[in-house]
Amino acid sequence: MNQLCWIRRDLRLHDHAALSDALEKGETTIVFVFDPLILNKLKDTQDRRVTFIYQSLEEMEKEVQKKGSSIIIRYGDPVEEIPKLAQELKVSRVVSNRDYEPYAKDRDTKVGKRLAAMNIAFEQFKDSVFYEKREVLTNTGGIYKVFTPYKNKWIETFESHDKIISNFSCDLKKLREFKNPKSILNHNWYQDIGFIETPPLLIGGTKAGLKRLENFEGKLDGYKEDRNFPAIKGTSYLSVYIRHGNISIRDMVRMATSQSSEGARTWLSEIIWRDFYQMILDTHPYIVKEAFKREYDQIKWLGEPKHFKAWCEGETGFPIIDAAMRCFNQTGMMHNRLRMVVASFLCKTLLIDWRKGEQYFAEKLLDYDLAANNGGWQWSSSSGCDAQPYFRIFNPYSQSEKFDPKGEFIRQWVPELAHLSAKEIHQPDLNHAPDYPLPIVSYELNRQRCLTMYSVVKNAK
Ligand SMILES: Cc1cc2nc3c(=O)[nH]c(=O)nc-3n(C[C@H](O)[C@H](O)[C@H](O)COP(=O)(O)OP(=O)(O)OC[C@H]3O[C@@H](n4cnc5c(N)ncnc54)[C@H](O)[C@@H]3O)c2cc1C
Repeated sequence: MNQLCWIRRDLRLHDHAALSDALEKGETTIVFVFDPLILNKLKDTQDRRVTFIYQSLEEMEKEVQKKGSSIIIRYGDPVEEIPKLAQELKVSRVVSNRDYEPYAKDRDTKVGKRLAAMNIAFEQFKDSVFYEKREVLTNTGGIYKVFTPYKNKWIETFESHDKIISNFSCDLKKLREFKNPKSILNHNWYQDIGFIETPPLLIGGTKAGLKRLENFEGKLDGYKEDRNFPAIKGTSYLSVYIRHGNISIRDMVRMATSQSSEGARTWLSEIIWRDFYQMILDTHPYIVKEAFKREYDQIKWLGEPKHFKAWCEGETGFPIIDAAMRCFNQTGMMHNRLRMVVASFLCKTLLIDWRKGEQYFAEKLLDYDLAANNGGWQWSSSSGCDAQPYFRIFNPYSQSEKFDPKGEFIRQWVPELAHLSAKEIHQPDLNHAPDYPLPIVSYELNRQRCLTMYSVVKNAK
């Protein structure tokens, strides 16, 4: 059988469900399509994520060339490109892994229809999540909307399957042999797609992803305690690799379940959060634009555009917020604790619609993932499933004292405050730091305004 394997957010050659199935069944060609419908939304021609993808493809290309094959690269709407290529290559089957984002689901349905009209099979596989929506259901067959019971059922399901973790081996010898003059290694695709090579802090590709996974193994034990402190490298920093599929979700679950420590259990729980949010997006696609809990769309946000600008630029006069945002603007990365703190601050202290913050994150996050980002923002603004209650408002000063007690993280990113003591750095006396901005709002005052603003929700209940 002559087949096409269409890779998207699964940029690896090991433990790959679709590729494995195709290679088992016969000769296979791999294709990747740069999609202008996605790329044109990126504002910055130096978007680091494009280079991350490019690096990942270069690494894969080197591997497949060792087998005499190549990855076909195309630029265009996949709804046109995939059927066209399938016809050119005279394949009888196209395979890909499933993607749960609304745009991807719609695109794949269209591709499937076009292929069907040409008598070409289109088959999709579960790969990017451990369990899909119908695999973890309530006892009455419903969808979970609260995380902890979902997690418990996820673990119960895993145990009832004897903790089996599939490993989809890929026999690359079955790749179709051909020469490709426009491979990612000998053609400048950056030029064709209108981007400029801009290397991210973390290098793209499977080797780097697996190395990071291996290095994290020794830190797993301490994860439960260390994961909350931005100044400590206590988390895995794997999100960008799992987002682009350089490593598989099964690689992560395998490691999380290889140890029985509290740290390993906590890490597994974070991986289950990822499955949870993917499932929520798959089953409730309206959340892309609307609040999961609809009554939260009644809120009249009181915030001001100039405060949003100050938040984006890290000039709010709240040291932990400014350190987090400045670090983010420079690196495209942000620690989970800080994502929660800056998101809560935007919605509940600056009184600005969560969608604005979500959008800003989407533009810059190296690990941007619609499901996780939307889930995180809706959790922080209290509008999401299983979110924190609306009256729970993070105090940026006490969060700072608790999670950056020595002010190390602040010192690294806010040089105007570097000379201050650990005691003073969280809420500085500006006589001691004249170059640093005054707080743009009063936390206490806006806490009260926030509660009034959200009262529409309380009254709706
Ligand atoms: C407002 C906000 C926005 C967020 N946006 C994103 C996003 O766009 N992309 C993204 O991958 N994560 C997002 N997260 C979740 C989390 O912050 C990151 O996954 C985490 O910081 C990545 O670092 P790590 O790989 O070191 O994570 P670790 O702590 O090592 O966790 C391991 C893996 O579990 C998954 N994970 C961990 N926490 C979560 C979570 N809360 N929700 C879903 N998956 C999780 C990630 O895949 C992560 O790589 C967001 C959280 C918040 C509060």
